[in-house]
Amino acid sequence: MTETDTETETDAPTPPRPAPHVPTLMTVHAHPDDETIGTGGTMAKAVRDGRRVVLVTCTRGEMGEIVVPDMDTPDNHRRLGEIRAGELEGAMAALGVTEWENLGYRDSDMMGRSGNQDARCFWQADLDEAIGRLVFLVRTYRPDVITTYNDFGGYGHPDHIRTHLVAVGAFARAGDPSWYPQQLAPEHGGTGVPEADGGLAPWTPAKLYEQAIPASVRQGMAERMEALGERSWWSPPDDATPEQVAEFEANAARMLVPDELITTRVDIADALDQRWDAIKAHVTQISDDNPFVRFGKDAWAEYWHHEAYVRRESRVLAPDQEADLFDGLDGREPGPYGWTDPAPVATGTTAR
Ligand SMILES: [Zn+2]
Repeated sequence: MTETDTETETDAPTPPRPAPHVPTLMTVHAHPDDETIGTGGTMAKAVRDGRRVVLVTCTRGEMGEIVVPDMDTPDNHRRLGEIRAGELEGAMAALGVTEWENLGYRDSDMMGRSGNQDARCFWQADLDEAIGRLVFLVRTYRPDVITTYNDFGGYGHPDHIRTHLVAVGAFARAGDPSWYPQQLAPEHGGTGVPEADGGLAPWTPAKLYEQAIPASVRQGMAERMEALGERSWWSPPDDATPEQVAEFEANAARMLVPDELITTRVDIADALDQRWDAIKAHVTQISDDNPFVRFGKDAWAEYWHHEAYVRRESRVLAPDQEADLFDGLDGREPGPYGWTDPAPVATGTTAR
């Protein structure tokens, strides 16, 4: 290369993204298996639709139960993080997903237990620092759509609550060069290394979703279980005190979303086989009580072949009722820094 060439190169503006943008879905989850249970069909469908799909799991799930008695040994608990990483790999193969990342935190166990006090766990992590780790991945993969849980973490698990906070924070901050400027190349407003050496650019995703269980699903599952002659896990125990019943119902209300608040129903009927294979890959976590196993594939195909979401934020115009997370994005291209043009429009939709 001659000196003249070098000068020409230096003078030319640096395009932040030489490669064409592939519409990208990033699903953010707490533990291995959550991705399959909550968004597995959506992920498989997105892959089939030609989207790039990136899974981010915040912990390695090393404090989980091992529900297969033969495998429930101290040695397997000691290395459960590795075992579940292998299971996750199998699940991703079933879903057709080829890219996944781990945020690097330790599983927080359940609220009030010793694992929850472990200084390495996700629950104890500095929130700004944790959001920064996900911002780094958002700026790296440049997703158009991000999914997470509601502010109850779906069912109150500390890692799921944290996952919600981190995803919401990263959605808000990834496009703002004043956050985590050390990740950003100087030519994109940062203080880090140049883009040629791996420095990143800000990235503003278009849409943020919260996974949702429609209230009608509780009703339907309770009826199916009664038909099987069993009591529903959606019912409080018979010997519960009135206070316990009230607490049970309060938790159920935070887990469920009234059907009329669901914005997005993704029909995953033709991805159910893949989701089934993926759930079976999470060997140590799948007990006979697992809803998938309990009802069987045919019941899922007949009654519950949608994955539901509440659109929490959108920076593009999108229909009130959507059949796909990418509704409103097809045929449009993001700008060099993401979906910053037209000006951000918040839908104001929040899950409850
Ligand atoms: Zn989980």
